Amino acid sequence: MTKIPAPTREDWEHLATNLTFTNQAFINGEYVDALSGATFACESPIDGRILTQVASCDAADADLAVKAARNAFESGIWRDLPPAKRKQILLKFADLIAKNRDELALLETLDMGKPIRFSSSVDIGGTARAISWTAEAIDKVYGEIAPTPTNQMGLITREAVGVVAAIVPWNFPLLMASWKFAPALAMGNSVILKPSEKSPLTALRVAGLAKEAGIPDGVFNVLPGFGTTVGKALALHMDVDTLAFTGSTAVAKQLMIYAGESNMKRVWLEAGGKSPNIVFADAPNLEKAAEATAQGIAFNMGQVCTAGTRLLVEASIKDKFVTLVKAALVKWQPNHPLDPNTLNGAIVDKQQLSKVLGYIEKGQQEGASLLAGGEQAFQESGGYYVQPTVFTDAKNTMQIASEEIFGPVLSVLTFDSMEDAIKQANDTIYGLAAAVWTADLNKAHKTAKALRAGSVWINNYDGGDMTAPFGGFKQSGKGRDKSLHAFDKYTEIKATWLSFE
Ligand code: NAD
Repeated sequence: MTKIPAPTREDWEHLATNLTFTNQAFINGEYVDALSGATFACESPIDGRILTQVASCDAADADLAVKAARNAFESGIWRDLPPAKRKQILLKFADLIAKNRDELALLETLDMGKPIRFSSSVDIGGTARAISWTAEAIDKVYGEIAPTPTNQMGLITREAVGVVAAIVPWNFPLLMASWKFAPALAMGNSVILKPSEKSPLTALRVAGLAKEAGIPDGVFNVLPGFGTTVGKALALHMDVDTLAFTGSTAVAKQLMIYAGESNMKRVWLEAGGKSPNIVFADAPNLEKAAEATAQGIAFNMGQVCTAGTRLLVEASIKDKFVTLVKAALVKWQPNHPLDPNTLNGAIVDKQQLSKVLGYIEKGQQEGASLLAGGEQAFQESGGYYVQPTVFTDAKNTMQIASEEIFGPVLSVLTFDSMEDAIKQANDTIYGLAAAVWTADLNKAHKTAKALRAGSVWINNYDGGDMTAPFGGFKQSGKGRDKSLHAFDKYTEIKATWLSFE
């Protein structure tokens, strides 16, 4: 059998010149302009080129979408389908996404600047996997029967909540969206997806694939919009039952206020992070730990909620270990995102680049030592690139080590004992993830247990798949994506009590 060669940069560039952009909202099974006719420019961070003008929805469009979603829900056209039928349709949806992987990966890369190899594997491959994994679970989730006397029966069942608004960020645009819409649709809800204004293109494109797969009109809607207008309208809407959010902690808090000011809709939040990566001197393989540390801060240009932004390294191995990390970061220097060998691409936009550069400047003013990087790259491209950057001599009291930068900026702190490591690791408002590197099983478990974080990785960074729940402690959020636990967000639990004569 002849092997088809992998696409080259030239192949991707050729595909990009022939690419068309879906730029309208998707409401009640149709692509439509915003009622106001407003649009916003969608820019590629690769070179600053305007890709297309996208419909800019507002409260009037939100009303239309909520009505369509509510009508579809009340009609029972989706929620009352046999679970196996919903499963079949969602599996087809996943399949269509996989079949259109190249186009979707290209859209993600052009829109957001990430390397094509990761758009294809992590983002689009991961999205298809998230939908198919969730679909497979639909007809395997059972209710419960309460322990009762023989003349009574207590049924504990799950029901769809109704209309779910999913508001998502730009760092893994379609993947983060799928972690919401897959379980929400699986449980029979209607969904209104609000992508980030910085990366709306894949969400808009897959709306058509959802229809092609057989998801009924009104059940899956996509509302792009500039700024906070349409997201706020959904969050304040009296007929949205659940808000599922991934984004910053500041906006997450605001959404809780909107829910309180409106209909007390359920609010589930996946928010920011400042994750500690703890390396003990007895780590089983320091080279491997250094490679993972480099990847943990540089992957997706550091625009990852779980990025290992704080390296806590045992003082006795600090010099040796940071030298290894610096060497491991060489291959994470930014390059053209359409080159299949590129590991690190562009920062999402000019605003985010300025934020990252601002923190790099701040780190120097705060007295941390710049060990690597610190500079903008490829300015001549018109795009937004920055070198992976390492600060040593950092402390949790510094802004670079306490605030979420959302860029490839690593703060290195040191510790002298397990207790000291745990104390410094937990000294943050966030609690999304943490890693521990040690060959000592006792130390590994003791530390993992003491860490206040939703995910803890032992001798790896960023491990896990669809089988493991994902979410945060403290101000990193509330509720879990992925795994069967995700269904909790999109179902109400009903107790039905029967008495027999
Ligand atoms: P953001 O909070 O600025 O925006 C997220 C979404 O909310 C966007 O769609 C945005 O348009 C919308 N939005 C903004 N203001 C709003 C308002 N007032 N009302 C309603 N909607 C509003 O976040 P971002 O910059 O897009 O993404 C980066 C953040 O996302 C980081 O903090 C990162 O840690 C977080 N994140 C968390 C996870 C997780 O699972 N915990 C995963 C990925 C990203």
